[in-house]
Amino acid sequence: MSEAMETVEAFRLRARVWLGGNLPRLEDHEIRDDPEDDADWVRNRELQKLLYEGGFAGICFPREYGGLGLAPEYQEAFNQESAHYEMPLRLNIPTFSICAPTILDMGSEQQKRDHIGGALRGEEVLVQLLSEPSGGSDLAGVITRAERDGDTWVLNGAKTWSTSAYAADWGLCLARTDWDAPKHRGLTMFLVPIRAAGITLRRVRMTNGANEFCEEFFDDVILPADAVVGQVNEGWAVASRQLVHERTAVGGGSPYMSGRRRRSIGVESATPLEIARRAGRMDDPGVREDIGAWYVQHRVHEQMVARLSAGMKSRLYPPPAASMMRLMHAEVSWLTADIGLRVGGSQAVAYPAEDGKEFSDIGRGWLMRQGGSLGGGSTEMARNIISERVLGMPREYAADRDVPFSQVRRSGS
Ligand SMILES: Cc1cc2nc3c(=O)[nH]c(=O)nc-3n(C[C@H](O)[C@H](O)[C@H](O)COP(=O)(O)OP(=O)(O)OC[C@H]3O[C@@H](n4cnc5c(N)ncnc54)[C@H](O)[C@@H]3O)c2cc1C
Repeated sequence: MSEAMETVEAFRLRARVWLGGNLPRLEDHEIRDDPEDDADWVRNRELQKLLYEGGFAGICFPREYGGLGLAPEYQEAFNQESAHYEMPLRLNIPTFSICAPTILDMGSEQQKRDHIGGALRGEEVLVQLLSEPSGGSDLAGVITRAERDGDTWVLNGAKTWSTSAYAADWGLCLARTDWDAPKHRGLTMFLVPIRAAGITLRRVRMTNGANEFCEEFFDDVILPADAVVGQVNEGWAVASRQLVHERTAVGGGSPYMSGRRRRSIGVESATPLEIARRAGRMDDPGVREDIGAWYVQHRVHEQMVARLSAGMKSRLYPPPAASMMRLMHAEVSWLTADIGLRVGGSQAVAYPAEDGKEFSDIGRGWLMRQGGSLGGGSTEMARNIISERVLGMPREYAADRDVPFSQVRRSGS
């Protein structure tokens, strides 16, 4: 029987046996993401290589680019089976769920073979170079520029908030290539080697102590003609696909992610129920009410992701409906962080030095809770997209629409 005809259950059993023989099994307390641990990236690449060699990488990516070409049900079965094993989860966002699907939709044949194949083999990490110091919401307003010089392009400008760029090999970078065209029509997407000459990368330390974010400065970075993804000056179409994949991934609906982070004490996503058990507060009526509210919202989120994913696949809903998943994700992560802190009580912010480590992540997670309303586009922008492009309400007024970008007034210009 060919692998493509294998049933989901047969695939599940084969995965179970392979996982048991090839990947380390983890106990709950071993699941811990250390933002300071750069060696973790090396380990993630090794794990991805193991998955590839074992025939379990890229379950939903096409076979011609190194994947298995299977339906999301197979990926879901693999996620369930791999939940207790060490998995290369760091590669899920943005490499597998955002950058690789964007290249799949919009890239050249060579780019698909090189970069999707490279990522599936554990040889490449890809990141997003979209936001700029001047702002991230108005993505079509980027001012990083790429100018043609014979057969090459010369890139100048700056990007920021690039998650895990320090550990990456390539970035999808949106730059302006025609200043006389209106802002959405003068953009081009490039595949940029992160360690190219002329790129200065700095890491940014966040309020929770993590320094996963980076900023990059481009000074006369030379890019070959085949660095262009899609067509020259049609980068907005590429960026739009990328944003759909990003919102789907952040919202929890991407079929390209492999493995699932388990909710467990000791990580920022510990559930209020687990926190209450550990804090000995299960009998507190207020705590029980909070847990109930969290549980309902959490279940609604799961159902919504399932419904929207199916609806987008069958084209019942348009691609911008991904913003609904993204919006709900932000609401749930805020609620989880707020309730987690309330349930954890004083221990979540002032924990004892030795035995309170599991509670320290709750307080730290709360400090970053606004991140859920910004990453993948802000909550306000998600509401704009839902109203305009899902519900068909009137578009927000924009003074810069159809005006040559060189004539658009910008702060500092
Ligand atoms: C966890 C996380 C990961 C990220 N990863 C990446 C990454 O890998 N690569 C990358 O390029 N970027 C990344 N970002 C950046 C992210 O895309 C931006 O933070 C986001 O797009 C908002 O841009 P900004 O922070 O510049 O805010 P601004 O665009 O300056 O907006 C400021 C505020 O104004 C509001 N606002 C702006 N315009 C409107 C409008 N038209 N209507 C209503 N409200 C509006 C916004 O909602 C926001 O509250 C990440 C951010 C986070 C938090």
